[in-house]
Amino acid sequence: APNARLNAVGMFASDLALARRPQNTHKGSFGDVVIVGGAHGMAGAPVLAARGALLAGAGRVFVAALDPGLAYDSVHPELMFRDAVSFDFSGRTVVAGPGMGDAPAASRLLFKLIDSDSPLVLDADALNQLAGDADLQGKLAQRKAPTVLTPHPLEAARLLGVTSAVVQADRIEAARELAGRFDATVVLKGSGTVIAENEANGVAINTTGNPGLATAGTGDVLSGVCGALLTQGWSAYTAALGAVWMHGAAADALVEQGIGPIGLTAGELPGAIRTILNRL
Ligand code: AMP
Ligand code: MG
Repeated sequence: APNARLNAVGMFASDLALARRPQNTHKGSFGDVVIVGGAHGMAGAPVLAARGALLAGAGRVFVAALDPGLAYDSVHPELMFRDAVSFDFSGRTVVAGPGMGDAPAASRLLFKLIDSDSPLVLDADALNQLAGDADLQGKLAQRKAPTVLTPHPLEAARLLGVTSAVVQADRIEAARELAGRFDATVVLKGSGTVIAENEANGVAINTTGNPGLATAGTGDVLSGVCGALLTQGWSAYTAALGAVWMHGAAADALVEQGIGPIGLTAGELPGAIRTILNRL
């Protein structure tokens, strides 16, 4: 399998060039990302995803929350909180799942998003809902717009109807199987994250990252970063590859600075990812 670092830096240089910004631009030039999640009592996950999207360069970032009480991020007042049920998603890149829960309103929303032509990242509770819903799975397989799934091994296992031990025993096969089944780009997370799409792109294994990432919220940041790259014009495959690579590289840089692996927090990743993007 090709090395994801080489892929991200070499083979996809034209996508990485998108990180360099022409002078005559405005926030509309860099796309919108909408994080859909944030059920009652689950405010942290969508906020971390939103911060990831913001610091990875999306022009505007919204949190479309299921809990109307979720209204403000004091660290990033740039983030715009809206009601998920009435939000207009058209023309925007969507990251669904962080803290989304599985209430009926969340399922209806997920169906609408999968049925839309918005570029879509599905993570966390969106994947868990998908695992238990054959209608959603059918819709997903028919999507035409870019679609990235970011399961950790247990989420992948639920989607495949096997145990996580089976997923871990052959991670490449599990990622390939999911990519084929849903005709999507799949990021099977964990040490040595596997990125799979169709036969043409093959499979990549990421080499960045460290056990500092084995802590709550890091996956949420990854999904937001992936949404930010998608909305800035990266293809699904390169957005997945690039997000995974820079997320791990950010954790490695933080460890270099003594900020981890012990006690590294997910909230420290977006700033480190921003530095990596600006130095590409
Ligand atoms: P989640 O399980 O959704 O919170 O996502 C965890 C994130 O941290 C994913 O991006 C994983 O790939 C990453 N991660 C967790 N543990 C490790 C590890 N030991 N080495 C490298 N990356 C890891
Ligand atoms: Mg997660």
